[in-house]
Amino acid sequence: MSFLVSVVVQTPAHSALAAALSYRCDRRLQPGTLVRVPLGSREVLGVVWDGEAGGHGEGVELKSIAAVLDGLPPLDAAWRALVGFAARYYQRAIGEVALSALPPQLRNLDATQLERRLGRKAVLRLAEEAPAQQVPEATPEQAQALEQLAAGSGAFLLFGATGSGKTEVYLRSVAAMLAARPDAQALVMVPEINLTPQLEARFRARFGEATVVSLHSGMTNPQRLKSWLAAHTGSARIVLGTRMAVFASMPRLGLIVVDEEHDPSYKQQEGARYSARDLAVWRGHQEGVRVILGSATPSLESWYHSRPASAEDAGGRYRRLDMPARVGAGALPRVRLVDMQQQPRGTVFTPALLEAMRERIGRGEQSLVLLNRRGYAPVLACGDCDWKSECPHCSAFRVFHKVDRSLRCHHCGFTQAVPRACPSCGNLDIAPVGRGTERLEELLAERLADTLRPDGSPVRIARIDADTTRLRGALESQLAQVHSGDVDVLVGTQMVAKGHDFRRMTLVAAINPDGALFSADFRAPERLFALLMQAGGRAGRDAAQGDVSELWVQTFHPTHALFATLRRHDYPAFAAAQLEERRSAGLPPWAAQALVRAEARSQEIAQQFLRAARAAATEAGLDADGRVVAFDAVPMSLQRVANVERAQMLLESTNRPALQRFLAAWQPLLHAARAEHKGVIRWAIDVDPLAI
Ligand code: ADP
Ligand code: ZN
Ligand code: ZN
Repeated sequence: MSFLVSVVVQTPAHSALAAALSYRCDRRLQPGTLVRVPLGSREVLGVVWDGEAGGHGEGVELKSIAAVLDGLPPLDAAWRALVGFAARYYQRAIGEVALSALPPQLRNLDATQLERRLGRKAVLRLAEEAPAQQVPEATPEQAQALEQLAAGSGAFLLFGATGSGKTEVYLRSVAAMLAARPDAQALVMVPEINLTPQLEARFRARFGEATVVSLHSGMTNPQRLKSWLAAHTGSARIVLGTRMAVFASMPRLGLIVVDEEHDPSYKQQEGARYSARDLAVWRGHQEGVRVILGSATPSLESWYHSRPASAEDAGGRYRRLDMPARVGAGALPRVRLVDMQQQPRGTVFTPALLEAMRERIGRGEQSLVLLNRRGYAPVLACGDCDWKSECPHCSAFRVFHKVDRSLRCHHCGFTQAVPRACPSCGNLDIAPVGRGTERLEELLAERLADTLRPDGSPVRIARIDADTTRLRGALESQLAQVHSGDVDVLVGTQMVAKGHDFRRMTLVAAINPDGALFSADFRAPERLFALLMQAGGRAGRDAAQGDVSELWVQTFHPTHALFATLRRHDYPAFAAAQLEERRSAGLPPWAAQALVRAEARSQEIAQQFLRAARAAATEAGLDADGRVVAFDAVPMSLQRVANVERAQMLLESTNRPALQRFLAAWQPLLHAARAEHKGVIRWAIDVDPLAI
């Protein structure tokens, strides 16, 4: 007796094997069972899938399943539904999404090994583990939010100022859910786990070490497998992770929290380009559990979806919870706009800003100087000819790093020693143009050299960016220095602007944020506003310092509308203005978008391929009723990376299902067009792209 089973396996993107494959087995296998199957000359991990199998074609002899991982409970129907939805929505193969959602080590284990790992471990009871801990009394705002959460269902947007105690609301919501359902699990997502070790520490302190597991890409494969198994078997009650955690197998899921829901790192930028935030909302809805999206500066989409009902509008599908005040009545920092037009040319730090920093240093308080550009200078240029430090492989400049006197391309990695003389004319006078964090740090050290700390010791300046934190553990130790007060002035990129609860920081200064004001990307203002609000949120978190905390913004456009709302900490007004612009321009959330990106040896081939695919869609009548607009193929803003030319085509529709149907039907035509355009290296669809 033999049974037919459908199995999904990791297939190369866009392969003809994208559907489930058929195998034989001498017994019935439940969907969700993990198996090992022969594929070509290899044996690979697969998941038994629902429904009819296909893929091998008529007359092909079916192979047998090589092994069944009986030691593991099958992946449940809700998990399979999530994977199936993500694959359909983001236009990828189910096997790709399913297998990349599993820990890599699972692929190399055999059945017996697994049984030995797994062992038997009872579900942890909170009482056994939770350490005795002082839980603060909820503030009135927190109490009200918690009441609304308890009374409602579905998705919530917790709109709480920085320092309003959102994390405490997450902790209490998780505690309430776990108490009500003795074996349920909570999924807590954060944008970048190594940036928020404090959150992890707070969850562990509240719920006990063994109750909480982490899931993020910074873990070793064995650690990841261990966490995944703990979630899958239910022994972990809380899974704390980055975007990948949205796919964690959690058979008794009872609550989902998405902290800093506006953060762009929730969007995966390769392979299946999913939004973990959006999938979390879908997953919560499907499993009938509450989802809490938290932010001081929500994405405009979430803000729109949480709009209150009015006479002419039924309101959004999320419930909005407001927590405008900081815990302990601490004030939000005062915003000071510095008009750089009024400063001598070439000013980096205005005298007033330097004076404000000196005051802080004298009082033993900390300052943060924010510049979103690492390295010493973004360009090195010759004063005599027009040579600049262009990357020979990319349409970008190589950045000058003074620490090792190198020119490094931040896109392809191409690195060379700084030339002694101009490679073009031999001039010895080549100089850095513009500035990055490395140069700011150096400049501050000069300007603040004679400033003393309260105990008379010299000022301490530190820098945190991707360059200083390359080594494992470096970020943690650098942050620890800031927390312990070993640093007076911290220079950093957006890395330090988010999430951290710096208790002694009373001044945050954005040195040059103007680029985003006039960007072609319609989301740039939203990101800038969020960055500045978040950065400002690092200042004055200790209520006692509220009245001295300041956010300085040095800008050439102090009258820009964005700054007027920033000055009042008025996110709702900012969002209203932005949404109005989006509505009149027909941009998201009023339209759904997708991008098709193509990479080729030449820009012309990349664009030809996109145009041919669009023509094929028209010919096939994919959008007979004209609901999808496919714009012209254009070079991507960063047109060439590592000698590969990149082009994109934007698709837009006011009807999301129509766009979805179009993309699904278009896939085979894109495959066909690719076969005819030999110079195309790869192409990919990005649904709901974040950067256009
Ligand atoms: P957010 O996540 O909104 O930025 P946090 O949850 O980090 O805010 O809270 C800010 C600070 O206030 C933290 O130090 C936290 O311990 C403290 N806090 C939060 N809730 C309370 C409360 N109910 N009583 C006292 N302190 C609180
Ligand atoms: Zn020159
Ligand atoms: Zn390059």
